[in-house]
Amino acid sequence: MTARILLASTLLAATPALADVNVYSHRQPELVEPLFNAFTAQTGIAVNVAFVDKGLVERLVAEGSRSPADLVMTVDIARLNQVVEAGVTQAVEDAALLATIPPAFRDPNNQWFGLTTRARIVYASKERVADGEVTTYEDLTDPKWQGRICTRSFTSDYNVALTAAYLAHHGEEATRAWLEGVKANLAKKPEGNDRSQVKSIWAGECDISLGNTYYMGQMMADPEQIEWANSVRITFPTFEGDGTHMNISGVAMTKAAPNKAEALKLLEFLVSPEAQEIYAETNHEFPVREGVKRSDLVASWGEFAPDSLGLVDVAALRPAALKLIEEVNFDG
Ligand code: FE
Repeated sequence: MTARILLASTLLAATPALADVNVYSHRQPELVEPLFNAFTAQTGIAVNVAFVDKGLVERLVAEGSRSPADLVMTVDIARLNQVVEAGVTQAVEDAALLATIPPAFRDPNNQWFGLTTRARIVYASKERVADGEVTTYEDLTDPKWQGRICTRSFTSDYNVALTAAYLAHHGEEATRAWLEGVKANLAKKPEGNDRSQVKSIWAGECDISLGNTYYMGQMMADPEQIEWANSVRITFPTFEGDGTHMNISGVAMTKAAPNKAEALKLLEFLVSPEAQEIYAETNHEFPVREGVKRSDLVASWGEFAPDSLGLVDVAALRPAALKLIEEVNFDG
């Protein structure tokens, strides 16, 4: 059996009498289909997926209690938080989820749950950056990095989350100074995505860039980008006295959830060892469940200490972080 893929507009009409689970996914089809196929094989419950690229929150709000969606899957704490703040989710009290997902990666009110984690790390030129030269996020303001840093826009979700974590650790004045210091060290204006920064390192335009870990896996699977990937190594900076900034992909149950019992089964499946291993292999993310094997590529990056900050605190400081980023005109 395969997960049925339907356009969102046909989802309602196509839902048969047998209880399927309906998912609105912001995640790419190729990432979630293997998971849903395994779930269907194991339980006989079909999963209908609507891939919603833009306007996920607006759609759920418009549909209200008549929404066919049971679950919402997306990446980044900011987007999960947006869904919750729109009032279209419900709390899920489930012993298996609580026992499996570390507290830092789930909502204390059980409105959202992390399924995988990713680290926001530094890609460093193998040729021009020595082993051990990248140390902390704080150190990115050191004059030794002048003209050597590339990054995507700092108003992008991943960098806002990193800045919110900085704010949680160090407070407003230090964070403003950090943003100004990193900006002063940029090789060029922020543009493009995480992978295009690695391309810039490969092209000699800069020596280090901020990026998420799984993009290494994506670049290595692409015939053009593998060269970029091979020009860098992954280094795990930490916050001084703490660990490496983490973000998540995650899931929330909608308030409407017409097929709640089946949706709960899918939620529990997503944190099972089987599903967590599929996740780890397909997108080179870190399983949220402890003891699940990382992909060979991910394991090759070595061990690191994740930051201890809970993502709920990162979410709370997001507006303040964005304000600081705009005040220093980081991208300007
Ligand atoms: Fe991404």
